[in-house]
Amino acid sequence: MAQYTCIVCPNSCLITVEEGENGLKITGNQCKRGEAFAKSEHEHPLRMFTSTVKIEGARLPRLSVVTSGEIPKEKLFECQKALNHVVAHAPVSCGDVLVKDFCHTGVDLLASRSMK
Ligand code: SF4
Repeated sequence: MAQYTCIVCPNSCLITVEEGENGLKITGNQCKRGEAFAKSEHEHPLRMFTSTVKIEGARLPRLSVVTSGEIPKEKLFECQKALNHVVAHAPVSCGDVLVKDFCHTGVDLLASRSMK
């Protein structure tokens, strides 16, 4: 049995997932979106990844970045470590791709702000 606090809406339902012979039994959710959230959290949790990287030639030393989609939660630490090898060069526009297929996640690492 596992429990997850649903983050899909502000109700924050506490959802219980139990594994049975007939698959997952999901209770505590008030709607179908919560059921889908709990199933995803239980089977393959995903997260958006946000952080900063070094930038050269800009007024500030760090550039905020985000992935173009969600990545497996277990890859977060590897992705954070990989940022030590990423250096952006000004000027950068919001949405610019800094690294394609970031850490083999299938999503790209993007600048999440512009910097001259
Ligand atoms: S289960 Fe539905 S109502 Fe409850 S927090 Fe999730 S989205 Fe909101």
